[in-house]
Amino acid sequence: MIYWYAIVVQTPSHSPLAGLLTYQSEHDIAVGAFVRVPLGSRELLGVVWQKLDAPPEPLLGNKGQTIEFKAITADLGIQPVAASWLKLVEFTANYYQRALGEVALAALPPQLRTLDALQVERRLKRRKIVDTEVPVKSNNAINNIALNAEQTSAIAKISTQNGPFLLFGATGSGKTEVYLRAALEALHSDPTSQVLMMVPEINLTPQLEDRVRERICPMYGDDAVVSLHSGMTNPQRLKSWLSAHMGTARVVLGTRMAIFASMPHLKLVVVDEEHDPSYKSQEGARYSARDLAVYRGKLQGAKVVLGSATPSFESWHHSSPGGDGAQGRYVRLTMAERIGGGVLPKVITVNMEHQPKKTVLSPPLLNAIAERIARGEQSMLFLNRRGFAPVLHCGDCGWKSECPHCSAYRVFHKIDRTLRCHHCGFAQRVPRACPACGNLDITTIGRGTEQLEENLADLLAHVKRPDGSPDGAPVRIVRIDADTTKLKGALQQQLALVHSGEVDVLVGTQMIAKGHDFRNITLVAAINPDGALFSSDFRAPERLFSLLMQAAGRAGREASQGAASEMWVQTHHPQHPLYLALKKHDYAGFAAQQLKEREAAAMSPFGYSALVRAEARTQEAAQAFLTAASESAADLSDAVPGFEHIIPLITLYPAVPMTIQRIANVERAQMLVESHSRKALQQFLSQWQGVLQTTKQKGMIRWAVDVDPLAI
Ligand code: ADP
Ligand code: ZN
Ligand code: ZN
Repeated sequence: MIYWYAIVVQTPSHSPLAGLLTYQSEHDIAVGAFVRVPLGSRELLGVVWQKLDAPPEPLLGNKGQTIEFKAITADLGIQPVAASWLKLVEFTANYYQRALGEVALAALPPQLRTLDALQVERRLKRRKIVDTEVPVKSNNAINNIALNAEQTSAIAKISTQNGPFLLFGATGSGKTEVYLRAALEALHSDPTSQVLMMVPEINLTPQLEDRVRERICPMYGDDAVVSLHSGMTNPQRLKSWLSAHMGTARVVLGTRMAIFASMPHLKLVVVDEEHDPSYKSQEGARYSARDLAVYRGKLQGAKVVLGSATPSFESWHHSSPGGDGAQGRYVRLTMAERIGGGVLPKVITVNMEHQPKKTVLSPPLLNAIAERIARGEQSMLFLNRRGFAPVLHCGDCGWKSECPHCSAYRVFHKIDRTLRCHHCGFAQRVPRACPACGNLDITTIGRGTEQLEENLADLLAHVKRPDGSPDGAPVRIVRIDADTTKLKGALQQQLALVHSGEVDVLVGTQMIAKGHDFRNITLVAAINPDGALFSSDFRAPERLFSLLMQAAGRAGREASQGAASEMWVQTHHPQHPLYLALKKHDYAGFAAQQLKEREAAAMSPFGYSALVRAEARTQEAAQAFLTAASESAADLSDAVPGFEHIIPLITLYPAVPMTIQRIANVERAQMLVESHSRKALQQFLSQWQGVLQTTKQKGMIRWAVDVDPLAI
């Protein structure tokens, strides 16, 4: 008896093969099984996608001879993935316009590609990933702390309704506690149930991992919680993946890639900080793990909880009551109060128009910081630019530190005296004199975290902190940004200093503004946040507002200090609606205003879009490719049945250079595609794929479609 199978293997991103190939076998193999198959001279990992009912049409060779389908080499002996997993991958490939083979293989742990059946068996044994139930220990005290009224109500709704839920909870309102209770409830509900908890960046929130382990492991055993993120080694990832797949792991804690963990008994998905842009992949299939979480929940009948103090405006809109007062698509759960009754910090704007030009830190802000130091409290200052200064400049001839390979300036790093490009990495020693005219007096423009740290040390030199000695002790400043945290463990070390009180002022990029649970910070300051106010990207205000709200949330987390906590914003536009809303902590008001603007302009979530990005040797080539593909789109009207109704619903904009037009000598252009109808956009894109694949343009390097792009 011979069986035929459609098997998914790794294929290049835009391959028309889509990755489904036909193989035969004498064995009856289950759909979802992992196999090894020959392809050309290689042997590859494959996933059995379908079992074919009838023998397929024979393949014909170029001399008309029939070609035998190749045989599956081996079944890896791992239990097959569930149909829902195949469906999730298929949906992702279709929706985000990528080849099935690419998405499927990227969703699997890389090491699986290299193992044969024997090696898999050994690993499963050695790692004790077995399909046995671990006895549940009785509930531990730690899981019985009394919830407040808002938490109780949120949990009750999650238990009794279907969701999806948007947990709109202020920073410090106890959202994590709600996730953990919901997780425990799901785990208790039946002996196999599984929970997926997603976080934007695991390295920034090691506390969360500890908290999850501390709560789950005493009852369900140490193997019950696994992590899944890109910071892990391949063997670790394989182990986590298999243990989720086999059901040994009851809780998977991971970053966006964890959305593809095989979890056959999934009952709950939590997406913490659901507004965070890192849930959207920027390479390969540009999927949104948050959006896929909602889809996956539906697919597997699992509840989905999206949580944030500043939800994405899309999620906010989906959880708003409709015009007729009807419940929105998501159930909104509001937790406005901070645990322990702490209040949110007072927001103070400093009008920089009234400060002398080139003021870094306004005198009132400096005083406020000095007062904090005198009281033994901590302050946090952030600035969205690392390095010393964003540009080096010659006043005589106008030379600027442009990167020869990118359309961007190289940043001046004083510490190692380099000019470094933050886009391509190109670095050189800082020239002694202007490379163009020899002028010895070259100066910096603008300011980065390095310089802020230096300025701050000068400005606070006279301030002493109380340490019992007659004169007091010098102020301790620490900087945290991508430069100071390159070494493994450096970030943890620096954060530990802050937590243990060995730092008075913390300086950094937005890295420090997110997620950390600092207990003793009573002042947070945004040094120069205005940049995003006038960006061409319609999401820039949302991102800035969210960042500032999150940053404000870092202050006054200790309830006793809440009342004395402050968030300072230095701005040239203190009357901007964004800052006025921030002063009132009025997320809802700001969201409503922004959503109104978006509705008028038919932008997300009121309209749908995709971007095609092209990279080429020249800007002309990149744009010519996009223009050609755009012109051919009209032909689909005749070629594809029904498309005469689709094409009029689609707007194709002209090709334009990207904001950073050139990176590492590659020219970049993009084209926006819009529609009021998500369905029409999807139908259009799936046909237009073929056009893009066949559009030939000299000098083209690559192109990619980004559906529901985050940055435009
Ligand atoms: P969020 O995730 O909303 O920022 P957390 O869940 O981290 O807030 O809660 C903030 C702090 O309050 C944490 O230290 C947490 O342990 C504590 N906490 C949460 N819920 C309660 C509760 N019901 N009783 C006492 N402490 C709580
Ligand atoms: Zn010069
Ligand atoms: Zn560069």
